[in-house]
Amino acid sequence: MQHLIFTFLSISYIMNLIECGKGKYFYRHNKLLLTLPFLLLNIFLFSCNIRSQEQKLNTVTSDSMLFQKQKQAYNDSLAKAAASSNKMKIYLTFDDGPNNGTLNVLNVINADSIPASFFIVGYHVQKGKKQKAVLKTLQESKNVALCNHSFSHAYNHYTKFYSDPSSVVKDIESNNDLIKFNNRIVRMPGRNAWRIDTINHTDIVESGPAFDSVYAAGFDIMGWDIEWMFDHKTLRPDSSIDLLLRRMYNLLESGKTRTQGHLVLLAHDQSFHSEEAVLLLRQFISLLKNNTDYELVLATNYPGLRKH
Ligand SMILES: [Zn+2]
Repeated sequence: MQHLIFTFLSISYIMNLIECGKGKYFYRHNKLLLTLPFLLLNIFLFSCNIRSQEQKLNTVTSDSMLFQKQKQAYNDSLAKAAASSNKMKIYLTFDDGPNNGTLNVLNVINADSIPASFFIVGYHVQKGKKQKAVLKTLQESKNVALCNHSFSHAYNHYTKFYSDPSSVVKDIESNNDLIKFNNRIVRMPGRNAWRIDTINHTDIVESGPAFDSVYAAGFDIMGWDIEWMFDHKTLRPDSSIDLLLRRMYNLLESGKTRTQGHLVLLAHDQSFHSEEAVLLLRQFISLLKNNTDYELVLATNYPGLRKH
């Protein structure tokens, strides 16, 4: 609109000047007087127009800066995601808690701010106030996933336990009701079995129907790729952590883990009840954490789990 007025007044001004050139002196003088207000208005509108153009230019400049910033943030997030997806994923899982070693493990992983998953046995929780308090501490901890390791742990009579699939499901469900897990991941006691979207693995064929029943009841079954062994009499963990790390690396490099690029490590809370064992765990975790090829993640991030 301003442009139209500006153009109209400009034409009017030029025509007045032409008229002025043709007329007599007074007439020319009066014409100039008549033209003057238009001339002033013209200058005012012109300056307004320039100011408006400057404002527009400033807005465009700041919009473009904001766009550049957003673009940079988007590119940074893509680069971060790509770097993360290139890393091999390590799932630290600790079975059979709560027991004497659980808080030691929790303290080490909290000190290093790394994620770890604990597979809980309901029967152990119900053993006393101390175990209940340990469970509460776990539930209140960040970077921790709690998963189902059955209520009874088969009372360590596995063949009998797995011979009745419906009672296995009831055992898993009762532990789920007791602990109120926020996921449906189960590790079968005494068995390295897998039942997820992408893996169907049975270690002992006779137990297969029980695994199928647990999966059909809506639970995902997670086994492991490698175990940090311990002496079942003294409960001391195997001290050759260099060898363990080398074996983990070889499994990942050769693509022999259940899911390529993902490794589930099984360890047991109870093997970290002594100061010596805690020191070993601290060294192991520090070596894992400082390895730039690895990313430590929770069991709940494992690919192929069903969305519940
Ligand atoms: Zn167990």
